Amino acid sequence: TPAAPLPPLSLLIAAPRGFCAGVDRAIRIVELAILKYGAPVYVRHEIVHNRYVVDGLKAKGAIFVEELDDVPDGVPVVFSAHGVPKAVPHKAEERGLEYVDATCPLVSKVHRQAERLVEQGRHILFIGHRGHPEVIGTLGQVPDGVMTLIETAADAEAIAPTDPANLAFLTQTTLSVDDTAGMIEVLKRRFPTIEAPRGEDICYATSNRQAAVKAIAMACDAMLVIGAPNSSNSLRLVEVAERQGVKARLIERAADVDFDWLSGVTTLGITAGASAPEVLVRELVDRLATRFAITERETETVRENMVFKLPRNLDAAA
Ligand code: SF4
Repeated sequence: TPAAPLPPLSLLIAAPRGFCAGVDRAIRIVELAILKYGAPVYVRHEIVHNRYVVDGLKAKGAIFVEELDDVPDGVPVVFSAHGVPKAVPHKAEERGLEYVDATCPLVSKVHRQAERLVEQGRHILFIGHRGHPEVIGTLGQVPDGVMTLIETAADAEAIAPTDPANLAFLTQTTLSVDDTAGMIEVLKRRFPTIEAPRGEDICYATSNRQAAVKAIAMACDAMLVIGAPNSSNSLRLVEVAERQGVKARLIERAADVDFDWLSGVTTLGITAGASAPEVLVRELVDRLATRFAITERETETVRENMVFKLPRNLDAAA
């Protein structure tokens, strides 16, 4: 007897999704550092929050460690895209370690704004998620005590700065656009003279990926976001879908798909966080095609063409 036909499933694929220019650059930096210095090249923290990417670079000769103390003397070290506290390059210099900084230029921009604001004598309220490496890195740009972390609208309501007329705020790059707008509203209402960043601190990739999810969510019964559980921008994509009333899950790989969870779903949205490579989207589509008669449609909300320059000391190896 012929096999029963597969049930139909239409896939709505969000665009932009996946790799941003900062992630692309950071991975390229590790690859070029291996070419220039030879393996092994040490990398402090996961270069970007994606196991597939990290494993691929390990196979090419990268060794990942959490702290500079875990890097032996005499070998080069790369700092991850999330950025590092100032103490880290200082310590590397003291030890005579060669280092390459893969901090995303959009994170570095926030670092420089923080320094400038502190020079002006302002106290900075920094909107971000405690413990995320980018937040640790940004807090570590300025002396202790001149920057206060705000995580929620309730924090923004409660904060009681000693000099409320002399404040500024900055944000992490990978936050929820909507939540952050709410927190900024509170800060501006409570502290009318607070200085705002010149441009947006939430990066183009974060806001574009959130907008792309919003654009397709209403048409979907469920949404899968490919990304790591420690990837801030990926977690925000799950939230964006859920807030549109669509059930959503974060998965790392196609193997994580729970077919029971998909029962009754006829239109499935798919996206990927800024640190997830496109090959993982294809892997997911291929796995779905073993159980469903799939049709694919991509909805592109904006075309991205951002490219960041490589650090000067690696340009020659490119
Ligand atoms: Fe840079 Fe944004 Fe990508 Fe983070 S998500 S690496 S800030 S472009």
